[in-house]
Amino acid sequence: MTAPMRRALIDSAQISANVEVLRGLAPTDHTLVVVKANGYGHGAETAARAALAGGADWLGVADVAEALELRSAGIDAPLLAWLHAPDESFREATAAGVTIGASTLAHLEALALCDNPSVHLKIDTGLGRNGAGRDDTAAFVARAAELHHAGKIRVEGLMSHCSGTSREADMSQAEEFENVMADLHARGVEPEFRHLAATAAAIDHPSLRYSMVRFGIAAYGLAPAPHLRNTGVRPAMRLEADVVLTKRLRAGDGVSYNHLWRADESTTVALIPVGYADGIPRAATGHASVALNGQRFPVVGRIAMDQIVVNVGDAQVAVGDTVSIWGDPHDGTPHPDEWADWADTIGYEIVTRLGNRVSRISA
Ligand SMILES: *Cc1c(COP(=O)(O)O)cnc(C)c1O
Repeated sequence: MTAPMRRALIDSAQISANVEVLRGLAPTDHTLVVVKANGYGHGAETAARAALAGGADWLGVADVAEALELRSAGIDAPLLAWLHAPDESFREATAAGVTIGASTLAHLEALALCDNPSVHLKIDTGLGRNGAGRDDTAAFVARAAELHHAGKIRVEGLMSHCSGTSREADMSQAEEFENVMADLHARGVEPEFRHLAATAAAIDHPSLRYSMVRFGIAAYGLAPAPHLRNTGVRPAMRLEADVVLTKRLRAGDGVSYNHLWRADESTTVALIPVGYADGIPRAATGHASVALNGQRFPVVGRIAMDQIVVNVGDAQVAVGDTVSIWGDPHDGTPHPDEWADWADTIGYEIVTRLGNRVSRISA
């Protein structure tokens, strides 16, 4: 069988290697790897197995459906889900041994009706997003402790999430986190898993590692922030496509909608069958380049839904040649973080937005 013309090659050994690098950079008792959003676009099951092979002892996802999919795939590692539908009962999840990150009293009451639920209390210490709100935390923790002592739920973890606004902001979140820990302690609850840091805070702030850290983006080889682009992790996704047509343009010929680009001299262009429907950010129009036979060539003209056009000048190019769109930059391929710069976004958005037409091929 020939390879599909658009393909994301997923190097699961690289995900494992990245997790090992990260465990070395931010060592603590437990390592959770986040495999939400289909493993940041890499395939949830592939990412989960690779993370465990790299030494992760926990997996994390946003919602229960994602967790159940991993259980159906036969993944039985400790697994945490923390973003819930309004009517979520947690019955199926707890029966499947999924640990629940609870943020509201309603979550606690629903969990209390489940069979032996394991719970991590999720509190908002300043991110202002998911987690029990500041004004609700005291009552939330009190009720959780009550249900814990009544044997209705097992409070095994306490979690929060940093905003990364500044070192001071993250430290002040840590202080609030520790205040809640003290409140739980006073109520006779000692959660084994205490976790505040995602990739950036885990690497930047040793004091915020507590007993577990949660690595997401860097497990896939991307940087959570520009100052963390040299940690030694490498991209595990390589997006490739075939050249499907070549042509010679004359001086003055325009390419793609609105002729944002015109050839100033006679040149060869190659047509690549990927566009914004496949996850190529349209906002990178005018900035992007791709690699062909180890050499960089500019993407010219408007990035369209299905197609991009590459100007190769007088270089040799043939239908069927492979173009590397993003991946490990060792051979000249653009890094996903470079695409993020071109599109004025973050690498997270580049890898998580691969379209349905792209075949994922795991090795
Ligand atoms: C997505 C997510 C993470 C992972 O963040 P990265 O920046 O990708 O490391 C960690 N914790 C929570 C609660 C998340 O939602």
